[in-house]
Amino acid sequence: MAETNFDVLIIGGGPGGYVAAIRSAQLGFKTAVVERAHLGGICLNWGCIPTKALLRSAEIYHYMLHAKDYGLSASNVSFDAFAVVARSRAVSKQLNGGVGFLMKKNKISVIWGEAAITAPGKVTVKASDAKLKNEPPKDVLAPGDYTAKHIIIATGARPRVLPGLEQDGKLVWTYFEAMVAPKIPKSLLVIGSGAIGIEFASFFRTMGAEVTVVEVLPQILPVEDEEVAAFARKRFEKQGMKIMTGAKVTKLEKKSDSVVAAIDDGKGKIQNIEFERVISAVGVVGNIENLGLEKLGVKIERGVISIDGYGKTNVPGIYAIGDVAGPPMLA
Ligand SMILES: Cc1cc2nc3c(=O)[nH]c(=O)nc-3n(C[C@H](O)[C@H](O)[C@H](O)COP(=O)(O)OP(=O)(O)OC[C@H]3O[C@@H](n4cnc5c(N)ncnc54)[C@H](O)[C@@H]3O)c2cc1C
Repeated sequence: MAETNFDVLIIGGGPGGYVAAIRSAQLGFKTAVVERAHLGGICLNWGCIPTKALLRSAEIYHYMLHAKDYGLSASNVSFDAFAVVARSRAVSKQLNGGVGFLMKKNKISVIWGEAAITAPGKVTVKASDAKLKNEPPKDVLAPGDYTAKHIIIATGARPRVLPGLEQDGKLVWTYFEAMVAPKIPKSLLVIGSGAIGIEFASFFRTMGAEVTVVEVLPQILPVEDEEVAAFARKRFEKQGMKIMTGAKVTKLEKKSDSVVAAIDDGKGKIQNIEFERVISAVGVVGNIENLGLEKLGVKIERGVISIDGYGKTNVPGIYAIGDVAGPPMLA
C-alpha cells in the first residue's frame, strides 16, 4: 500500500518547496511534496527560467541586428515569435523534468493534487483543478488523506489584480500570457516596473514593440538601488522605451483588439493612449486561500504567512517558506 504517513510534508513544489524537501530527505526524514500543477513552481515554469530564455533570444537578436558593430555581418535578420516562445517552454520543461528526477533521487514522494490542512498533522489532497491541464509526472501518489509530523506551506504567489486594471488574458496580460505571446504586439503598455514588468518591457522592446512603462513610484525598479535604477532607465530609454514614473494608469477600456489606457502623468494631465496589448505587472499576492489556515489560526499579516527566523508559524508543526511567507519574493 502507498505510504500516507510522513515526517515532513510540503505543500507546493516550487523553489521553496522542492529545496526544503531535498534538505529534509537528506536529513533522513520521510518526506513528501504535494504539487497541483508543475514541479519547479512559478520560477522554473512561468518565472525566472522562461523569462531568461526569452531574454536570451532577444539578446542574440539584438547582437545580430548590430553585428556590424562587432566586425561581423548578418543579413535578413528576423525571428519567428512562435519558435522563440517554443524554445523558452522547452527550457522550462527540461528543468521541470530535472526536479522530478531530484525527487526520485532523494526518495521524496510526490503527491499530485491540491492540498489543504484539515488539522495539525493532517492534510487532504484533492484532484487538481482540470483547468490547470498539466500532466502529472510518473509514479506520483494519488489524492487522499495524508498525515505528517511537520507541514511546510510553500504555495507561492500569483499575479496581483488591481480594480479597474483586471487582466483578461487576451488584451490585458499577466506574466502567464506574456510568456507565451502569440506575436509581438506593435504597441505595449507595461503597468509596473518591478523586475517582472521591466523584464517583459525589455524583451518586447528588443523584439520591436513600441513599449511604454508606467510606474506609480518615482523610480523604475523601485526596490533596487536608486543609482542602478537610474542607470537602467537611461539604457532602456536609449533603446526607445518610453518610461513614465510618478504616473498612474487609472482606467483600461477594452476594444476588440486593443486597449485605451487613461494615464495620469502625476502632474494633473490625463492622456488616453491606445495600445495593442497591456501587461499588468503590479506585483504578486501570496497563495494563502483554501489551505485551512483560518481554521487552524495560522497568523497572516499583509496577505502573507507570518513566520519567525526558523520558518515556524504561530501554530506548532506548521511552517512556511518562499513567496507565501512574504518578501523578497525571489527564488
Ligand atoms: C516572470 C517572473 C520572473 C521571475 N524572475 C525571477 C528571477 O529572475 N530571480 C528570482 O529569484 N525570482 C524570480 N521570480 C520570482 C520567483 O519565481 C519566485 O520567487 C519563486 O518561484 C517562489 O518560489 P515558491 O516555492 O515560494 O513558490 P512557487 O514557485 O510559486 O511555487 C509554489 C508551488 O505551489 C503549488 N501550489 C500552490 N498551492 C497549492 C496547493 N494548495 N496544493 C498543492 N500545490 C500548490 C503551485 O502550483 C506552485 O507550483 C520571477 C517571477 C516571475 C513571475
